[in-house]
Amino acid sequence: MQKTIILDGKKTAQRIKQQLKNQTDDLIKRGKTPGLAVIIVGDDSASRIYVNLKKRACAEIGMYSEEYSMPENTTQDELLTLIEKLNKRNDIDGILVQSPLPGHINETAVIDAISIKKDVDAFHPVNVGKIMIGDYDFLPCTPAGVIELIHESGISIAGKDCVVIGRSNIVGKPMAMLLMHEHGTVTICHSKTKDLAQKVRNADIVVAAIGKAQFITGDMIKQGAVVIDVGMNRLEDNTLVGDVHFESCVEKAYAITPVPGGVGPMTIAMLMKNTLKSAVLSFESENRHDN
Ligand code: NAP
Repeated sequence: MQKTIILDGKKTAQRIKQQLKNQTDDLIKRGKTPGLAVIIVGDDSASRIYVNLKKRACAEIGMYSEEYSMPENTTQDELLTLIEKLNKRNDIDGILVQSPLPGHINETAVIDAISIKKDVDAFHPVNVGKIMIGDYDFLPCTPAGVIELIHESGISIAGKDCVVIGRSNIVGKPMAMLLMHEHGTVTICHSKTKDLAQKVRNADIVVAAIGKAQFITGDMIKQGAVVIDVGMNRLEDNTLVGDVHFESCVEKAYAITPVPGGVGPMTIAMLMKNTLKSAVLSFESENRHDN
């Protein structure tokens, strides 16, 4: 029997970041350094780790980054004023507001305030709409990273039965859209889905984005399926696990992602890709105006 492919997100992300570094070097030589502003409000420890990883990725690739660490009691107006300033700066190509935000800040208002040209998370409703019609500049980072990993498995998505578990705006919904763009036949499951296990069992490609530790077990997986685990959950002993029970699924899967080291590193690589794309578009637009 063929050995299960473990989709190494760390390795794939490293390769993508190397390509981005080469492209960034070229852009810098032409006079433009891509810049990312990362805003963090409050002191959520997981958010702090993500922000540090994003800044480190910028440094690896040779992009400029700056961090705004704002206190928990920052008002919505203060945050919107900062975003407005960053929207106007030519040296900032991407603006990322790390979620979660404190409860008194309206996340929708914050996303709406980010220039659609600098919305490297692709959360702005205009960019979400552009993804829906397949005419976009930026793809949402986590779903885009998942698509790259499925490609890594060598499996074509076209014609496959895909099941996405989770329908959040940042993962589940755009994930389903991207799988459909790649000609998959997509079922979206959520907390009200009937016979979820049966639906997952029919899937050639399973993407779990639930936020519940080891929820998808081997008995739910079809022999030979591609299993992608977006989940990141801490067990009581602080171990990081996914939404997929890896040990029972790995035996049946054709390919599977580990947690950690699967989708997580890909999300950051895709953020870097979007930031570079934004910088290239801004550079080209400035040059067009100069000529
Ligand atoms: P979310 O907003 O909490 O959404 C979770 C989704 O799972 C919801 O649609 C919910 O259904 C569904 N769900 C919950 N319980 C379920 C059940 N028992 N059966 C079926 N569906 C159920 O979470 P998210 O932001 O999408 O994140 C999902 C996971 O991915 C989390 O672990 C998060 O940490 C992780 N994540 C990882 C990355 C990465 O880079 N690796 C990026 C983003 C998120 P309803 O809509 O019906 O409530």
